[in-house]
Amino acid sequence: MSLLDILQFPDTALRKIAAPVEDVDARIDSLVGDMLETMYEAPGIGLAATQINVHERLVVLDVSDECNEPIVLINPEIIELDGEQEMQEGCLSIPGIYENIKRAASVRVSAVNRNGDPFELEADGLLSVCIQHEIDHLDGKLFVDYLSPLKRNRIRLKMQKAKRKDAEE
Ligand code: ZN
Repeated sequence: MSLLDILQFPDTALRKIAAPVEDVDARIDSLVGDMLETMYEAPGIGLAATQINVHERLVVLDVSDECNEPIVLINPEIIELDGEQEMQEGCLSIPGIYENIKRAASVRVSAVNRNGDPFELEADGLLSVCIQHEIDHLDGKLFVDYLSPLKRNRIRLKMQKAKRKDAEE
């Protein structure tokens, strides 16, 4: 297994729309392993393939306290959204930025697991937010897109400034 580089906002590759995974084969299995390792190491509770510059519909999540309940969603589709909740979100591609975002309270998704078997999952609370956030990534969408253009631009400038500072050091 190996750690993967995570794209940082405002990298334009984060805006690509991911294509469906065609075969859940050994390549996907190894990619899932690398993505889980990268997510735990970061540390984070969700990672979409888009964030590691692989534009296929694949996300990994783990919102458990012990980080021992990984969820793998391949070709996830939202079947149902219900209610509304507001929660503070962050993103491994936008480090250091946390904002309150309104999303559906509960979500029902269909997906394929690491073994290639289809399944459905219902979630609320943090897991629901995380699933919606990660599926957004596959569609080239970021949580800062829910903020005002002014606020988003301020975050963009802050990220670019931090990047320049890194490059100088
Ligand atoms: Zn994210």
